[in-house]
Amino acid sequence: MKKYIIANWKMNPDSWAEAEQILDSISEYFRTASDQEQSLVVCPPFVFVEEVSKLLQTSSLGQHVELGAQDIALTDQGSLTGEISGTMLTKLGTRYVIIGHSERRWKLGEGNEVVNQKLKAALQSELVPIVCVGERERDENYKEFLKQQIEATFADLSADDVAKCLVAYEPVWAISSNPNAQPDTPESTLESVAVIKDFLNTKHKIQDTRILYGGSVKAQNAKDFLSLDELSGVLVGGASLRKEEFVQILKQV
Ligand code: PEP
Repeated sequence: MKKYIIANWKMNPDSWAEAEQILDSISEYFRTASDQEQSLVVCPPFVFVEEVSKLLQTSSLGQHVELGAQDIALTDQGSLTGEISGTMLTKLGTRYVIIGHSERRWKLGEGNEVVNQKLKAALQSELVPIVCVGERERDENYKEFLKQQIEATFADLSADDVAKCLVAYEPVWAISSNPNAQPDTPESTLESVAVIKDFLNTKHKIQDTRILYGGSVKAQNAKDFLSLDELSGVLVGGASLRKEEFVQILKQV
Protein backbone atom coordinates (compact mmCIF):
# COMPACT_ATOMS: atom_id res chain seq x y z
CA MET A 1 0.00 0.00 0.00
CA LYS A 2 1.21 3.51 -0.83
CA LYS A 3 2.27 5.62 2.13
CA TYR A 4 0.35 8.78 2.85
CA ILE A 5 2.13 12.09 3.08
CA ILE A 6 -0.18 14.76 4.42
CA ALA A 7 1.03 18.35 4.05
CA ASN A 8 -0.56 20.58 6.68
CA TRP A 9 0.20 24.16 5.69
CA LYS A 10 -1.51 25.49 8.84
CA MET A 11 -1.98 29.31 8.61
CA ASN A 12 0.56 29.63 5.78
CA PRO A 13 1.72 30.94 3.37
CA ASP A 14 0.72 34.59 3.39
CA SER A 15 0.00 34.84 -0.34
CA TRP A 16 -1.25 32.72 -3.22
CA ALA A 17 1.99 33.50 -5.09
CA GLU A 18 3.97 31.69 -2.37
CA ALA A 19 1.50 28.81 -2.33
CA GLU A 20 1.96 28.45 -6.09
CA GLN A 21 5.73 28.21 -5.64
CA ILE A 22 5.34 25.29 -3.24
CA LEU A 23 2.93 23.55 -5.62
CA ASP A 24 5.25 24.23 -8.58
CA SER A 25 8.10 22.46 -6.87
CA ILE A 26 5.87 19.45 -6.10
CA SER A 27 4.77 19.45 -9.73
CA GLU A 28 8.38 19.62 -10.91
CA TYR A 29 9.25 16.65 -8.70
CA PHE A 30 6.48 14.52 -10.19
CA ARG A 31 7.54 15.46 -13.74
CA THR A 32 10.80 13.60 -13.14
CA ALA A 33 9.74 10.91 -10.63
CA SER A 34 9.42 7.51 -12.29
CA ASP A 35 6.60 6.03 -10.21
CA GLN A 36 4.43 7.65 -7.61
CA GLU A 37 5.07 5.80 -4.39
CA GLN A 38 3.07 8.05 -2.09
CA SER A 39 -0.53 9.27 -1.65
CA LEU A 40 0.05 12.97 -1.30
CA VAL A 41 -2.63 15.15 0.30
CA VAL A 42 -2.15 18.91 0.52
CA CYS A 43 -4.18 20.75 3.18
CA PRO A 44 -3.99 24.50 2.52
CA PRO A 45 -5.75 27.14 4.63
CA PHE A 46 -9.36 27.73 3.53
CA VAL A 47 -8.54 30.89 1.55
CA PHE A 48 -6.50 28.81 -0.91
CA VAL A 49 -8.69 25.70 -1.10
CA GLU A 50 -10.56 26.87 -4.20
CA GLU A 51 -7.40 27.95 -6.03
CA VAL A 52 -5.62 24.69 -5.23
CA SER A 53 -8.69 22.79 -6.37
CA LYS A 54 -8.74 24.63 -9.72
CA LEU A 55 -5.05 23.94 -10.19
CA LEU A 56 -5.52 20.23 -9.50
CA GLN A 57 -8.37 20.10 -11.99
CA THR A 58 -6.54 21.91 -14.75
CA SER A 59 -2.95 20.67 -14.47
CA SER A 60 -1.01 17.43 -14.27
CA LEU A 61 -0.64 18.05 -10.52
CA GLY A 62 -4.15 16.67 -10.17
CA GLN A 63 -2.82 13.20 -11.03
CA HIS A 64 -0.50 13.28 -8.04
CA VAL A 65 -2.06 15.39 -5.32
CA GLU A 66 -5.38 15.23 -3.49
CA LEU A 67 -6.97 18.10 -1.63
CA GLY A 68 -7.58 18.27 2.11
CA ALA A 69 -8.99 20.91 4.45
CA GLN A 70 -7.69 21.73 7.92
CA ASP A 71 -11.05 21.90 9.68
CA ILE A 72 -14.81 21.55 9.17
CA ALA A 73 -17.93 23.07 10.73
CA LEU A 74 -19.71 21.14 13.47
CA THR A 75 -22.83 20.80 11.38
CA ASP A 76 -23.60 20.94 7.71
CA GLN A 77 -26.49 23.41 7.90
CA GLY A 78 -27.40 26.37 10.01
CA SER A 79 -26.01 29.67 11.21
CA LEU A 80 -22.36 29.28 12.15
CA THR A 81 -20.55 32.52 11.50
CA GLY A 82 -17.07 32.02 10.10
CA GLU A 83 -17.38 28.27 9.59
CA ILE A 84 -17.07 26.17 6.43
CA SER A 85 -19.37 23.18 5.98
CA GLY A 86 -18.59 19.70 4.72
CA THR A 87 -20.85 20.29 1.71
CA MET A 88 -18.92 23.44 0.81
CA LEU A 89 -15.68 21.50 1.05
CA THR A 90 -16.80 18.58 -1.08
CA LYS A 91 -18.22 20.95 -3.71
CA LEU A 92 -14.74 22.46 -3.97
CA GLY A 93 -13.24 19.05 -4.63
CA THR A 94 -11.88 18.41 -1.13
CA ARG A 95 -11.52 14.71 -0.22
CA TYR A 96 -9.81 14.77 3.16
CA VAL A 97 -10.16 16.88 6.28
CA ILE A 98 -7.95 17.18 9.36
CA ILE A 99 -9.99 16.73 12.53
CA GLY A 100 -8.87 17.54 16.07
CA HIS A 101 -5.44 18.95 15.30
CA SER A 102 -3.66 19.69 18.58
CA GLU A 103 -3.48 23.38 17.77
CA ARG A 104 -7.28 23.43 17.60
CA ARG A 105 -7.59 21.27 20.70
CA TRP A 106 -5.13 23.18 22.88
CA LYS A 107 -4.89 26.68 21.46
CA LEU A 108 -8.54 27.09 20.41
CA GLY A 109 -10.13 25.03 23.15
CA GLU A 110 -11.74 22.29 21.06
CA GLY A 111 -12.60 19.49 23.45
CA ASN A 112 -13.19 15.85 22.58
CA GLU A 113 -16.92 16.47 22.23
CA VAL A 114 -16.44 19.10 19.54
CA VAL A 115 -13.83 16.95 17.80
CA ASN A 116 -16.28 14.02 17.86
CA GLN A 117 -19.03 16.16 16.31
CA LYS A 118 -16.69 17.41 13.60
CA LEU A 119 -15.63 13.85 12.90
CA LYS A 120 -19.27 12.88 12.43
CA ALA A 121 -19.82 15.91 10.18
CA ALA A 122 -16.85 14.88 8.03
CA LEU A 123 -18.12 11.31 7.69
CA GLN A 124 -21.59 12.54 6.81
CA SER A 125 -20.08 14.57 3.99
CA GLU A 126 -18.10 11.52 2.85
CA LEU A 127 -14.79 13.23 3.50
CA VAL A 128 -11.89 11.09 4.70
CA PRO A 129 -11.13 12.28 8.24
CA ILE A 130 -7.49 12.59 9.27
CA VAL A 131 -8.06 12.35 13.01
CA CYS A 132 -5.27 13.76 15.15
CA VAL A 133 -4.64 12.31 18.59
CA GLY A 134 -1.70 12.58 20.92
CA GLU A 135 -0.67 13.32 24.45
CA ARG A 136 0.33 16.79 25.52
CA GLU A 137 3.09 15.59 27.80
CA ARG A 138 5.09 12.42 27.99
CA ASP A 139 4.45 11.52 31.63
CA GLU A 140 3.75 8.14 33.25
CA ASN A 141 0.05 8.38 32.34
CA TYR A 142 0.39 9.21 28.67
CA LYS A 143 -0.88 5.87 27.39
CA GLU A 144 -3.99 6.15 29.55
CA PHE A 145 -4.49 9.73 28.32
CA LEU A 146 -4.22 8.52 24.75
CA LYS A 147 -6.81 5.77 25.29
CA GLN A 148 -9.27 8.19 26.87
CA GLN A 149 -8.77 10.74 24.13
CA ILE A 150 -9.35 8.13 21.43
CA GLU A 151 -12.41 6.75 23.17
CA ALA A 152 -14.00 10.20 23.42
CA THR A 153 -12.93 11.25 19.92
CA PHE A 154 -14.45 8.16 18.30
CA ALA A 155 -17.50 7.94 20.62
CA ASP A 156 -20.68 6.51 19.05
CA LEU A 157 -19.05 5.72 15.73
CA SER A 158 -19.70 2.44 13.95
CA ALA A 159 -16.78 0.16 13.13
CA ASP A 160 -17.32 0.95 9.44
CA ASP A 161 -16.96 4.65 10.11
CA VAL A 162 -13.86 4.26 12.29
CA ALA A 163 -12.29 2.17 9.52
CA LYS A 164 -12.73 5.05 7.05
CA CYS A 165 -10.47 7.30 9.14
CA LEU A 166 -6.77 7.91 8.98
CA VAL A 167 -5.48 8.36 12.53
CA ALA A 168 -2.54 10.73 12.92
CA TYR A 169 -0.58 10.10 16.10
CA GLU A 170 0.86 13.51 16.90
CA PRO A 171 2.36 13.89 20.37
CA VAL A 172 1.87 17.59 21.06
CA TRP A 173 5.35 18.04 22.53
CA ALA A 174 6.84 16.83 19.23
CA ILE A 175 5.09 19.38 16.99
CA SER A 176 7.69 21.78 15.69
CA SER A 177 5.83 24.97 16.65
CA ASN A 178 6.08 24.07 20.35
CA PRO A 179 9.06 25.21 22.43
CA ASN A 180 11.87 22.62 22.57
CA ALA A 181 10.01 20.28 20.23
CA GLN A 182 11.81 17.05 19.37
CA PRO A 183 10.49 14.34 17.09
CA ASP A 184 9.34 11.18 18.80
CA THR A 185 11.61 8.20 18.23
CA PRO A 186 10.36 5.48 15.88
CA GLU A 187 10.53 2.97 18.79
CA SER A 188 8.36 5.04 21.08
CA THR A 189 6.00 5.91 18.19
CA LEU A 190 5.47 2.19 17.70
CA GLU A 191 4.45 1.83 21.35
CA SER A 192 1.79 4.51 20.90
CA VAL A 193 0.68 2.95 17.60
CA ALA A 194 0.20 -0.33 19.47
CA VAL A 195 -1.93 1.45 22.12
CA ILE A 196 -4.11 3.03 19.42
CA LYS A 197 -4.46 -0.20 17.43
CA ASP A 198 -5.22 -2.30 20.52
CA PHE A 199 -7.82 0.15 21.69
CA LEU A 200 -9.59 0.41 18.33
CA ASN A 201 -9.40 -3.34 17.92
CA THR A 202 -10.86 -4.07 21.36
CA LYS A 203 -13.51 -1.37 21.26
CA HIS A 204 -14.48 -1.26 17.58
CA LYS A 205 -13.11 -4.62 16.32
CA ILE A 206 -10.90 -2.94 13.74
CA GLN A 207 -7.66 -4.71 13.04
CA ASP A 208 -5.96 -2.63 10.42
CA THR A 209 -6.42 1.01 11.32
CA ARG A 210 -4.28 3.25 9.15
CA ILE A 211 -2.03 5.23 11.48
CA LEU A 212 0.30 8.07 10.54
CA TYR A 213 2.94 9.83 12.60
CA GLY A 214 3.27 13.61 12.85
CA GLY A 215 5.64 15.81 14.87
CA SER A 216 8.80 17.48 13.53
CA VAL A 217 9.04 15.21 10.49
CA LYS A 218 11.85 16.58 8.35
CA ALA A 219 13.96 15.45 5.43
CA GLN A 220 16.54 13.89 7.83
CA ASN A 221 14.09 11.72 9.76
CA ALA A 222 11.19 11.08 7.35
CA LYS A 223 12.59 7.73 6.26
CA ASP A 224 12.79 6.49 9.88
CA PHE A 225 8.99 6.74 10.05
CA LEU A 226 8.07 6.01 6.44
CA SER A 227 9.99 2.73 6.50
CA LEU A 228 7.97 1.33 9.43
CA ASP A 229 5.44 -1.28 8.28
CA GLU A 230 3.16 -0.36 11.19
CA LEU A 231 2.78 3.22 9.92
CA SER A 232 0.73 4.22 6.87
CA GLY A 233 2.56 7.50 6.44
CA VAL A 234 3.38 10.87 7.95
CA LEU A 235 1.71 14.20 8.56
CA VAL A 236 4.12 17.06 7.89
CA GLY A 237 3.55 20.62 9.11
CA GLY A 238 6.44 23.11 9.01
CA ALA A 239 8.58 21.15 6.55
CA SER A 240 5.74 20.97 4.01
CA LEU A 241 6.18 24.73 3.49
CA ARG A 242 9.92 24.49 2.80
CA LYS A 243 9.71 23.48 -0.82
CA GLU A 244 13.15 21.91 -1.33
CA GLU A 245 12.91 20.03 1.94
CA PHE A 246 9.40 18.81 1.21
CA VAL A 247 10.51 17.35 -2.11
CA GLN A 248 13.29 15.56 -0.20
CA ILE A 249 10.60 14.07 2.07
CA LEU A 250 8.60 12.90 -0.95
CA LYS A 251 11.70 11.11 -2.17
CA GLN A 252 12.03 9.11 1.08
CA VAL A 253 9.08 6.82 0.34
C1 PEP B 1 1.39 19.36 12.35
O1 PEP B 1 1.10 20.49 12.04
O2 PEP B 1 0.49 18.53 12.54
C2 PEP B 1 2.79 18.98 12.51
C3 PEP B 1 3.08 17.72 12.69
O3 PEP B 1 3.68 19.98 12.44
P1 PEP B 1 5.29 19.85 12.37
O4 PEP B 1 5.58 18.85 11.26
O5 PEP B 1 5.74 21.22 12.02
O6 PEP B 1 5.76 19.36 13.67
